[in-house]
Amino acid sequence: MASFENNFDVIVVGAGTGGAIAARFAAQNGLRVCLIERKPATLTPEKICGDAIGSEVFDMLGVAHPNGKELSCHIKGVKLYPPDLKNPLTMIHSKFAGYVVDRLSFGQRLLKEALDAGVSRFLAKTMALDLIYEGDSVAGVRARLGNGDQVELKAKIVIDGSGLYSALRRKIKSKKVENHFEKEDAVLCYREIVHFPTKAQKVKNPEYITIILDKDRAPGGYVWYFPKNDHALNIGLGVYMDYKGSLKNFYRKHAFDVFIETDQVEILSSGGGVVPVRRPLWSCADHGIMFIGDAAFHVNPLHGGGIDPSMRAGYHAAMTAVKAVKKNDCSLNSLWDYNVAVMRSFGAEFAGLDVLRRVMQSFVNDDLNFGLGKRLLSADEILGIANDGSIRLSSWDLAKKAYRGIGRPRFLLIMNYLRARMNAVVRLYHNFPGTPDMQAFEIWKRKVIREYDKTEKLRVKVEARKQPKKYKSNV
Ligand SMILES: Cc1cc2nc3c(=O)[nH]c(=O)nc-3n(C[C@H](O)[C@H](O)[C@H](O)COP(=O)(O)OP(=O)(O)OC[C@H]3O[C@@H](n4cnc5c(N)ncnc54)[C@H](O)[C@@H]3O)c2cc1C
Repeated sequence: MASFENNFDVIVVGAGTGGAIAARFAAQNGLRVCLIERKPATLTPEKICGDAIGSEVFDMLGVAHPNGKELSCHIKGVKLYPPDLKNPLTMIHSKFAGYVVDRLSFGQRLLKEALDAGVSRFLAKTMALDLIYEGDSVAGVRARLGNGDQVELKAKIVIDGSGLYSALRRKIKSKKVENHFEKEDAVLCYREIVHFPTKAQKVKNPEYITIILDKDRAPGGYVWYFPKNDHALNIGLGVYMDYKGSLKNFYRKHAFDVFIETDQVEILSSGGGVVPVRRPLWSCADHGIMFIGDAAFHVNPLHGGGIDPSMRAGYHAAMTAVKAVKKNDCSLNSLWDYNVAVMRSFGAEFAGLDVLRRVMQSFVNDDLNFGLGKRLLSADEILGIANDGSIRLSSWDLAKKAYRGIGRPRFLLIMNYLRARMNAVVRLYHNFPGTPDMQAFEIWKRKVIREYDKTEKLRVKVEARKQPKKYKSNV
């Protein structure tokens, strides 16, 4: 192993949206930062993605909004379609308004801002391989440089933003951080960027991102149709991870052929990827290390949006690192604050949405047509869910729902029970232990597991129902 002189306050692994923000805020606040990325600098962080991001996070972090080459288009809101494609829910709210970006240009700007903020060393084409431990604390990473040399990079704190398949998470010794994930907690996606060369062919609803829930076209996920401009769009679908066969052919049949309606197209980019869709890691930190973004399952379980939370997590991790280094205590005692920030902000929302996602994945198309068509889940509720993952309804709202759902009382009961479970989980996450008291943490975990067990029972019940007589596949 080649010798490599170094000693940093923080090593950030991965220069994706999470890693770039973490490196930027750590460097800006005076830490010596080493940022490592396996791709070449000019291709970081090219990624197969839907490219949609809300505007809130930019104001929250004081980061410039997408502009110029990196901005594909502005988005007013979301149109959510049931499988029968009738009567979509239109949601216009600051939570959903934002941008579709050119992923590479956007990521290149975030990377440049991190380097300009004073990152001490940026190592592109460098692959993190393993964690270095001193006692029970992480003290750096083993990495392979672009020239093939292996090096030991030392730091007080490692921030891992290397994505869902993080090699480092798999090497963690502590049981507080799960190092594997279940297949049902991720969704396999395929997408293309499609351009209409003739001016006659235009993108539909160019001010909205469109989501189509359909158990046949996208089992376990959804079809998306996101504008890039009037003549180009990002279209794709997500399915269960255990899907067997050619996902590209499946996408062609159930998304492209259905929604593109012309052969006169240019395909500008195509490819697949995997999105985690579950609540965050039990603990996103351990002694000397914090996990951010996809590496910590910081992705909205309902729509798979992970750019915004990766940036928020990167910010919280950096600010926690700044305090820990100043105190000269980089143990879990200091880094626990990062857990608290994540769990009580978007972690609570995502845990509630994870409950909803699990049960919704068991619905059949008829349920989705009925639930959305009769507005048993209204735009306001979805906005409420998007705000903190819970649903609060007045007695009047409940009475209105009971009337609308009169033909399907069992479905109404399922929805009410589901609401109660979501609210209970969100409450638990808002009460995430404020200090690293392991006994309190274990008690908290047991309570969350109990709620998820109830959700699992509900899911099994929903799946065990006979398919409603009316149910007919659309496809
Ligand atoms: C098909 C698809 C569509 C999506 N659509 C959307 C969307 O429309 N909106 C949205 O908000 N989110 C979307 N997402 C999710 C979003 O892309 C991710 O949640 C987000 O990119 C997470 O950012 P990150 O920084 O955590 O990880 P990543 O962006 O995955 O970045 C990880 C970085 O780490 C590097 N790396 C990996 N391993 C190592 C290693 N060992 N050593 C060094 N470097 C390493 C990688 O090269 C990469 O640059 C989508 C995802 C997919 C797959």
